[in-house]
Amino acid sequence: MSVTILRPGATIGILGGGQLGRMLALAAARLGLKCHVYSPPDADSCAFAVASASTCAPYEDYGALAAFADAVDVITYEFENVPAKTAAFLAQRRGVLPDPAVLAKTQDRLVEKEFVAKLNIPTAPFAVVGSTAELQAAVARIGLPAVLKTRRFGYDGKGQKMIGGGDDPDGAWASLKRVPAILERFVPFEREISVVAARSQNGRVQSFDLAENEHREHILKLSRVPARVAESVAERARQIAETIANAFDYVGVLAVEMFVVPEQSDHTVLVNEIAPRVHNSGHWTLDACTVSQFEQHVRAVAGWPLAKPIRSARAEMINLIGAEVEDYAKWLEVPGAAVHLYGKREIRAGRKMGHVTRLLP
Ligand code: AMP
Repeated sequence: MSVTILRPGATIGILGGGQLGRMLALAAARLGLKCHVYSPPDADSCAFAVASASTCAPYEDYGALAAFADAVDVITYEFENVPAKTAAFLAQRRGVLPDPAVLAKTQDRLVEKEFVAKLNIPTAPFAVVGSTAELQAAVARIGLPAVLKTRRFGYDGKGQKMIGGGDDPDGAWASLKRVPAILERFVPFEREISVVAARSQNGRVQSFDLAENEHREHILKLSRVPARVAESVAERARQIAETIANAFDYVGVLAVEMFVVPEQSDHTVLVNEIAPRVHNSGHWTLDACTVSQFEQHVRAVAGWPLAKPIRSARAEMINLIGAEVEDYAKWLEVPGAAVHLYGKREIRAGRKMGHVTRLLP
């Protein structure tokens, strides 16, 4: 691929205006780069407040998209559900990194799982569900308990239904409005981990130390670094992330979420999901590492060399979800705690409002 090399003072366009865009823009500013954030009007876009320019328009407003493409030097995203047509339209006018083809693969859980399986990387056994007959066949093949997941627009546990032994699979699918889905075998994992890795335009990969993740009501609550896994498991997880990044010819930061499953005398690592963007389980890098995931992403899309990340402490990242953010003043007094507030206007249940990184002795 052709390499785009930005000079300090250049402008990165970011699609999506949430906290990930906000932290990307802050990291870019430190490196003398500007950001122009594009986000739809219905979003509470906390990235606007720290960007040097912003466009508040729908992803289908092609006039606004063309003006945005003209105003920036390269385009990236912090939100993976940018419509494929929008990304393709922009790519005709300006470099888009990572390549929009990656979005097409990661926006659909079936396409993503098939892609991972083709690389000989294990996932939970899965089957496609597009009709009642397919659902019955899937249950027969995969067995119960299983997790039914919509193929598209699933995040933070949205579009998922657990089906236990005594449950009615058809009722579960009806509750997901019978949209195209996959059925995945329930994995009795020992722990969930993620690898956040960056790949540069010349194909170099740098991974951060593995995070161990705990979810609450399907939303990430806590990431602990380093993950408590054997070095062989960590090595395997890093290899998997690198294989995926290379297979995508990826540029930027991506995260691969995985399950660690105990076997008789060993551990298996199964890929659950790929996020083609900076990731919540990498927020600890802002405070406990010589380079953050946000800076690493900016370096990659700018065509600059990646840094070799060096972790300075053990760390724990705690998400402040919904009303938990009201405790910010308490956190400000905790020794070793770094407080990050996203400045979102409205507190809502389940909404990520900020996070705290605790550096541990
Ligand atoms: P996902 O949206 O696929 O990332 O799933 C959200 C969370 O649901 C995961 O982080 C797991 O905690 C849980 N989960 C998803 N798929 C499975 C599975 N096949 N077996 C067990 N737990 C799962």
